[in-house]
Amino acid sequence: MSKKSYPYSPATALAQSLGSIDQETQAVVPPIHVATTYLRGKDNSYPTGNVYSRADNPTYKPVEALLTKLEEGHEALLFGSGMAAATAVFQGLRPGDHVLAPKVMYWALRNWLLNFATDWGLNIEFIDMTAAETVAKHLKTGATKLVWLETPGNPLWCISDIAAIAKFAHAAGAQVAVDSTCATPLLTQPLKLGADIVMHSATKYLNGHSDVIAGALIGARDDTYWQRIRAVRAQNGAVPSPHDAAQLLRGMRTMHLRVREACQTAQFIAEQLEQHPAIAQVLYPGLPSFAGHAIAQQQMHGGFGGMLSVRLIGGADAAIHVAAHTKLWKRATSLGGVESLIEHRASIEGEGTPCPEDLLRMSCGIEDRQELLDDFLQALP
Ligand code: PLP
Repeated sequence: MSKKSYPYSPATALAQSLGSIDQETQAVVPPIHVATTYLRGKDNSYPTGNVYSRADNPTYKPVEALLTKLEEGHEALLFGSGMAAATAVFQGLRPGDHVLAPKVMYWALRNWLLNFATDWGLNIEFIDMTAAETVAKHLKTGATKLVWLETPGNPLWCISDIAAIAKFAHAAGAQVAVDSTCATPLLTQPLKLGADIVMHSATKYLNGHSDVIAGALIGARDDTYWQRIRAVRAQNGAVPSPHDAAQLLRGMRTMHLRVREACQTAQFIAEQLEQHPAIAQVLYPGLPSFAGHAIAQQQMHGGFGGMLSVRLIGGADAAIHVAAHTKLWKRATSLGGVESLIEHRASIEGEGTPCPEDLLRMSCGIEDRQELLDDFLQALP
């Protein structure tokens, strides 16, 4: 959707779901379409474009239109999970294609790349993506087809310079896809910085209530790679249920309020804990002491995200002790919901993780931020 066709801000676009009203009923919330199949016209065509719900469903359309608008892309596609969205990007490649991916990234996707994508013939190199020059050195002109970024990158929140990396990648003939789950479409717009595809785990900030699993891709243009990705979704049936799509849209309507709160809380907690004698290091892109802070300042607007990690002087034992003794911070995996979560991340990532044993990952929700800080402090050994 162009700026002209919807001239309002992201906040207004989200709150009003682009102002769309159901034409048939005048409902201010779009209907849920549960049909799996659609009638052909007598001329053998599909007059509305709807054919079969494994490929597509009209309930996705308002969500996809909103994501297209927020990311200023050409088209958005909803998926049944963030992993379904991310893996579709790799399944759109061909055996032998060279791919660069970050050493620090969402662990389940790294595992999938190592255990499946490489078996199917993708040549994947995991490298440090915090310096664009390092990425440039590893690009193989003509052979590298994709540079996969995640920024801020789980769980150390490493920042990659999307604009600089996109320039190098394009010069080598590669496309750039960005897992922007933790930045949300509100803090960073990767397509405007030169990326070709943006991915979100919609399970996180987009939905925001820990009650929907979904994912999304937003493409900059309708090229052959994007068409292959669209075909992967349709043919694998990697789609969400219509009910989940509708619930996701409801969650998205308050995303700007939730993300603003989460960012402010994360910044506050990061600043407070950085001073604390029991804390060895706070990893948060909003801290001037953080390695990627300068790049984050350039490409993140309105906050540095709701995720931070802390490393404890007392090591793994102290970290596990804290997670066991918080009352408000819930001891659970995932992120981006209204409730704050805390996790001893190395325990879930397992072997080969770059995550240190003394690290706690914290997802800030929208509770009272002083109460969250006090709760963390009382849990320290
Ligand atoms: N990307 C990031 C950064 C994530 O944190 C997650 C899930 O935790 C995913 C992708 C995968 O998303 P999903 O759980 O919706 O499949």
